[in-house]
Amino acid sequence: MKPFFLTTAIDYVNSQPHLGTAYEKVCADVIARYKRLCGFDTRFLMGNDEHSQNVFKKAQEAGLDPLAYCDRMEQVFRKAWARLDVSFDDFIRTTEPRHRVGTTEIATRLYDAGDIYEGVYEGWYCVSCEEFKQEKDLVNGNCPLHPTLKPDWIREKNYFFRLSKYQQPLLDHFAAHPEFMQPEIRRNEILRLIEGGLLDVSVSRAGQSWGIPLPWDPRSVVYVWFDALINYASAVGLGGDWALFERWWPADLHVIGKDITRFHAVIWPAMLMAAKLPLPRQIFGHGFMTIDGQRMSKTLGTIIDPIELADRFGPGGHDPLRLYLVKEIAFGGDGDFSYQRYDERYNVDLANNLGNLVSRVTSMAHRYRQGRLTPAAAGNDQLARLGEQVVADYRSGMDRFALHEGAAAAYRLIDGTNEFIAATSPWALAKDPAAADRLSQVLFDAAEAIRLAAVLLGPIMPASSREILRRVGASGDDLHVDRDGRWRNDGERLITQDGPLWPRRENPVGVDPRVGPNAKEPVTVTDNPNPPPALGAPALVPIAPQAAPDPTAAGANPTPPPAAAPAAPAADNRIAIEDFMKVELRVAKVLTAERVEKSKKLLKLSVDVGTEHRTLVAGIAEAYEPEALVGKTVVIVFNLKPAKLMGIDSNGMVLAASPDGGKPTVVSFEQPPAPGTRVR
Ligand SMILES: [Zn+2]
Repeated sequence: MKPFFLTTAIDYVNSQPHLGTAYEKVCADVIARYKRLCGFDTRFLMGNDEHSQNVFKKAQEAGLDPLAYCDRMEQVFRKAWARLDVSFDDFIRTTEPRHRVGTTEIATRLYDAGDIYEGVYEGWYCVSCEEFKQEKDLVNGNCPLHPTLKPDWIREKNYFFRLSKYQQPLLDHFAAHPEFMQPEIRRNEILRLIEGGLLDVSVSRAGQSWGIPLPWDPRSVVYVWFDALINYASAVGLGGDWALFERWWPADLHVIGKDITRFHAVIWPAMLMAAKLPLPRQIFGHGFMTIDGQRMSKTLGTIIDPIELADRFGPGGHDPLRLYLVKEIAFGGDGDFSYQRYDERYNVDLANNLGNLVSRVTSMAHRYRQGRLTPAAAGNDQLARLGEQVVADYRSGMDRFALHEGAAAAYRLIDGTNEFIAATSPWALAKDPAAADRLSQVLFDAAEAIRLAAVLLGPIMPASSREILRRVGASGDDLHVDRDGRWRNDGERLITQDGPLWPRRENPVGVDPRVGPNAKEPVTVTDNPNPPPALGAPALVPIAPQAAPDPTAAGANPTPPPAAAPAAPAADNRIAIEDFMKVELRVAKVLTAERVEKSKKLLKLSVDVGTEHRTLVAGIAEAYEPEALVGKTVVIVFNLKPAKLMGIDSNGMVLAASPDGGKPTVVSFEQPPAPGTRVR
């Protein structure tokens, strides 16, 4: 099998993974899974960048040995990647012996080639970037990427790499390999940069203990950026396991963020040229994620935990997130995330469209054919032709890493299948005995189209794809696009009918008027009539029925095809941040709790809100024993007008998730902040 070796950037472990890091990993994972689907012997490398001064500092702050700190953070990262179903084959940490071997190998080769010389570095250094900065790049004296940080002025003995010597060889390489740096816009940026002339770069830091010692001067360590780049080669045996290296190097693809293209497309290839090693075949610089149009930043509070996003739609919630990241953002460009759009796409693409299609077809297969489908007549050419066209478009998009085009192609087949069902009206055919063969064929074709779409969506939504394949009587094991990405008009399909894949998400999470001082007696709730879903149960929202999967056998009107159903109307009920900030949410600790006489639903609580003690009434008695609440830290609306409830003055309101047909769950914390802390 032909090898395909791809890598992502390795991550600094001084902070947790966020949506931006997750975006890169998910997209690279989609590429890795697609390559496997195409039959490549794929090796997908990820890892952690540990030799950073920030990591060292963070460990010291935590009172830990740096390596122990990195061990701990490795688990944090691995947990996030597992939650997002990222299927790396290898995970490297730059503190591993194999990486020390690889780094020493490259450093020695460069030194022996005469491309390293000793000098003194005097200038600016941003500790947060771990990067030397030029005066001209500073903004008001501060780092352009860290506007509140003034870089340090340092003067120390450094070793320098003769990057300037590689200007022409790099230009030659770019000219000979137009595909080397993609997308085109990044390639042009880098070309301008190289044409503008290259300065030699520092490759060591003096007087530090955290890092890999220089082979010829162990009092200095390899500069963290120089060290980090080498991970791609040391992971496949550079300097150690040469047979492994032979098999996998050069890498076929480095997936990186657009902010680090200079390191990957200029310094790294020059290092490899100097070390007389082959260059990676391609570097792809993806764009940045913004949150509601704002850049992600700790100060703006726009850092999003990807696990939280996956959890939003229950245990299978990583697939809705993966689909959003791939389908809604053109890979290579910048993209935006908003909760509103995330929920909207979930309903449109998954609940109403694909999920509903699978429900309808599997349900009709059971109603009309006892779950056994066989082709009976000449297949429907139109749908088969659409399937073939879609597979061709999908492969063309995915081969160019236009992942969004691949996702869109698969969705064209899903839309086409919905239209096909509307046009052929199986429920009408079912009433006509003379149309029995036709009905068999229509159901078979629809199931086949779903199978094909699920194969194509496999790299994007691996778990959901397997589940859909199971339901339409196909295997999700060992798929190959050349074989399984073909329209099939043969064999018997045993169809499985099961609960909704993605229940529609109805209500946003938030304040429910039934819990709080304005609640009279809360309304009676009924038991949830829906079966538990196999995938993607929303964690904090009611499980609502999907559109009826198909008409009754009595011949009621068919459900309109979901493709024709408009997206949730974008009625603009959004509020400005100022409006939200009017609601003062605060952390409160429950001091006492007791039942309210003559009420099944209400509890009277006294809470500590930091500055005072308050009494309030909450409609949570059916879900909580009063004793269980004492000592619990909750969130209250602090500036709500007081109200009298069952004769009690209630001053504030407890926040709880309140599913229709379920019991309320009060909002609480894993690690409770102090009472009175503002929540926003
Ligand atoms: Zn900086």
